[in-house]
Amino acid sequence: MKNWKVEEVYLEPQSFDSTTPDVGEINAGLCRYTQGFTEALYGEKHWTQPELTPIPEDIAHAVGVGEVACPRCFRSDGGGSVPTLITGQDTGIEYVAQVRCGCTSLRLFEREWREVPAIWQDANLSALQPSNTHAAPQYMDMDRQDSAFREFRSNPGLSALLAGSLRLGKTLSMQCLQREALWRWSVHPAASELRSVFWTNALDLLNEISAMNSNPGKSPAPSVTPALIRKCASKGLPIALFINEIDKFAVSEAKTSALASLIDAVMEARGQIVASSNLTGKELIARWGPEYGNSIISRFAAPPNGQTIIFSTKPQHQKENSK
Ligand SMILES: [Zn+2]
Repeated sequence: MKNWKVEEVYLEPQSFDSTTPDVGEINAGLCRYTQGFTEALYGEKHWTQPELTPIPEDIAHAVGVGEVACPRCFRSDGGGSVPTLITGQDTGIEYVAQVRCGCTSLRLFEREWREVPAIWQDANLSALQPSNTHAAPQYMDMDRQDSAFREFRSNPGLSALLAGSLRLGKTLSMQCLQREALWRWSVHPAASELRSVFWTNALDLLNEISAMNSNPGKSPAPSVTPALIRKCASKGLPIALFINEIDKFAVSEAKTSALASLIDAVMEARGQIVASSNLTGKELIARWGPEYGNSIISRFAAPPNGQTIIFSTKPQHQKENSK
């Protein structure tokens, strides 16, 4: 790679001792630079920058919540940047740019994670262990839980239907996966513009959607819509949709069709969908009817796009069905 000399970079090289101008100087006007440098600068196609030095893990949370100043940019409001050497691989040109500091992501993550209810604040995939505390012991299967948790750890961006009776760790698992999704979102350059991780339950969401449809312009917009998903996708943001209790709504064609549209939008954007349900995929198809049921389940809860993970040995639905 070419090593630039000061006289090859600047028109008045006697005033400079470095060949790495600051991007602020470059933006202020290229007249100070030689034609050769200017041409190389604008012709360069392959810019690279080093990985930023990470913020030490033991203080990441404190930096994220603003308790201590960031050791990299020295700010405590998450708005900092750090000077970084940018290198053109074809031309050997180097300049210094201000790059978004890692604390920006920590701040965004902590801001959103704080919204998660207190009982789930400790949800963390790395600490997720099979447990039968608070579970419905008659349906508990620690081996199934263990293999589900392994699956989540090896592929935290997976799409899945988590099926089984209550209190077997489905919501805890979803919160752990939401935490991972929020991390992936928070490091995206466009994260500060738009949140692309959504948590909802089917009943609230579908009520919001039908309120909006029956009273257009007067009801508040639903928390997540296909249009919002497409907006996130257009910015390249990683999309994740978590639907708690996807089985708990009064079935109507309008509602199943609204659910299907939303799920289509996420899958078209190559996003993640994780839903929990007391019913298995087959039972949901029976409840929703074959037209929407099959299309919804095949989108995210069956191969190749996703899977169904059954948590319990003897799901509660067997009792429900015999009523
Ligand atoms: Zn910082």
